[in-house]
Parts: sequence; C-alpha cells; structure tokens
Amino acid sequence: MKIVILGAGAMGCLYGGHLAEGGNDVWLLDVWQQHVDAINSLGLSIEGLSGNRLIKSIKATTKPSDVGIADLVIVFVKSTITDLAISDNKEIFDSSTAVLTLQNGLGNVEKINQTICEENIIAGVTAHGATLLGPGKIRHAGIGETTIGELDGSLSDRLVNIEKVLNLSRLRTIVSQNVWGLIWSKLLVNVGINALTAITQLKNGELIEHLETEQLLEQAVYEAWKIAEAKGILLTYEDPIYHTKQVCKATGGNISSMLQDVTGKRKTEIDMINGAIVREAQELGLYAPVNETLTNLVKIIEKRY
Ligand code: NAD
Repeated sequence: MKIVILGAGAMGCLYGGHLAEGGNDVWLLDVWQQHVDAINSLGLSIEGLSGNRLIKSIKATTKPSDVGIADLVIVFVKSTITDLAISDNKEIFDSSTAVLTLQNGLGNVEKINQTICEENIIAGVTAHGATLLGPGKIRHAGIGETTIGELDGSLSDRLVNIEKVLNLSRLRTIVSQNVWGLIWSKLLVNVGINALTAITQLKNGELIEHLETEQLLEQAVYEAWKIAEAKGILLTYEDPIYHTKQVCKATGGNISSMLQDVTGKRKTEIDMINGAIVREAQELGLYAPVNETLTNLVKIIEKRY
C-alpha cells in the first residue's frame, strides 16, 4: 500500500517507520527540510519501547509533487494546522485516497473535510506515545492500541484492510463502530490533563497528588462530560473522572505534550481541547467556566513566549 504520512514529527515517524518496516511504500511529507534531509541521507532512527533501529526503507520529502497519489494518507500534523496541511498538499489525494486522522482534539475531521469529501475520511485514536529527539530521530515512549472507525459507523472493506495493514506493521489495531465516542473519550482525558500540566508544569501523575489540581481536573472533565452527554456521545468508559485519574497514574512520569509545547515555546492544541469544550458548550447554550479559564491561561502563556 502506498502510504503518505502528512506531518512526520514524533507520531508521524513512529507510524511511518513501522509501516515501512511492514513492507509498505511509505513517504514522510513534512515542511521541516533538515529533518527530511537527515532521514534521506541517514535513515529514520527510532529508539525506545519497540527497539532501537535505523529504518532506511522510507522516503521523506517537503514536496507533494515527489509523492504522487496516495492510497492512504495518515494525518499527523498538530491539530492547529490540519486544514492548512491538507490544502497545501492537495495533489497527493484523488477520489480513492483514504485519509486517516489519529490526531488529538476536536475539529480535525471538519478541517480535513474542507478539502476532502467526508466519505474518504476515517478517524481514530492512538494510545502510543512518541517524542521527537532531533532531525531524523524519535523515541517510542508509550505502547498502546490504535482504534479506527468510519465516520458513519460502518465496517467497510477499506477499514478492515487498513486495520490489517497496521497490525501487520506491529501497530496493534482494532476497528470501532463508535468513532465519535472514541474521539470524545480521548478528548475528555486530554481536557483533564493537558492544560493543567502546561499551566502548573506538573507531570501527569503529580496532578492527582495535589488537592488543588485534582479538583480542577475533576471540574474540567465534569464540564466536558456533561457536554458529551448532551450531544448523545457514547463514551468508551463509564466514569470519565475516574478514568482520567487512572490515566494520570498509568502515565505518572510523563510530561504532557502541551507542557512540552509551552516549554519549547510552541503553539499548543488548546483551542482543539479545552477551547473546543468552551465552543461546544456555547453552541448548546451551556457554560464551561473551568475550561474557559484553563484555555485563557494557556493562551496567556503562549502570548508571553
Ligand atoms: P510533532 O510536532 O512532533 O509533529 C508535527 C509535524 O508536522 C512536525 O514535524 C512539523 O514539521 C510538521 N508540519 C508542520 N506543518 C506542516 C505542514 N503544513 N505540512 C506537513 N507537515 C507539517 O507532533 P506530534 O507529537 O507527532 O503530534 C501529532 C498529533 O498527534 C497531535 O495532534 C498530537 O496531539 C497527537 N498525538 C501525539 C502523541 C505523542 O505522544 N506525541 C500521542 C497521541 C496523539
């Protein structure tokens, strides 16, 4: 299968590397020239939980014209620029290209849909974790399942085929008929952890060691939970607050991606996480004051870079 990874940072390289090792024709398409040059001259270096290795059977480029038409595009840019990345690279898509987003946050499907018709979009979530170490080099920091689903809940042949391709590439994958439930279930965890860690500079596990942050986590997740309920979203677990705290425990030593972003003075995904809850609340005539406060505080941190 010809697969293009659009946005070959930490996660893009993790998936691209595995898929190339699985025998697929993989292109990494990214705007970062130094990274692309390092991969083309030395190979892609992956270290960490899935083993240390150098992958040479992978191509990288900054030019969509090098790539041609893809069978599958996996979108792994930050959700702040999903629409731009898709529209800048229109020439890699035709009417048969499937586009899979495994990004965090709300709104990626809608942003892809500005250029790509809805029938070609597949969504999902990933429980893997990865860190970018430098040009051409990433660390596989967390191993987990990938879950993918069609937007209309159908179990299509292409969905099952993509599941198979991922599984054959050592990326354990299952299909779901409740893709919006998956996206919201992951969102609620990010709502509880990301902004709070970015503001306080605490690690994930430390959030539940302090009553102050534990209460804020509970309130932020509760607001988002009520909105999910009002929208009729079927979550993949019973109690989002309990679940988010379990994730804090399981990933206790992790520095969240939003904390990494503010530390590196990069734009965060706040508008697609806590900010999305504020917008969803407004649309329903509800109010999400804790999420609004967290969003505003992260935006102030970004403004002070
Ligand atoms: P990253 O910042 O490491 O990678 C993003 C890449 O996109 C960069 O290499 C950047 O150069 C590239 N890019 C920027 N603009 C582009 C454009 N116009 N066209 C093509 N490429 C462009 O980000 P990441 O950590 O890999 O995260 C990607 C997504 O996956 C995010 O939504 C994140 O929340 C989600 N996610 C990350 C992790 C993780 O552990 N890192 C885990 C689960 C989900």
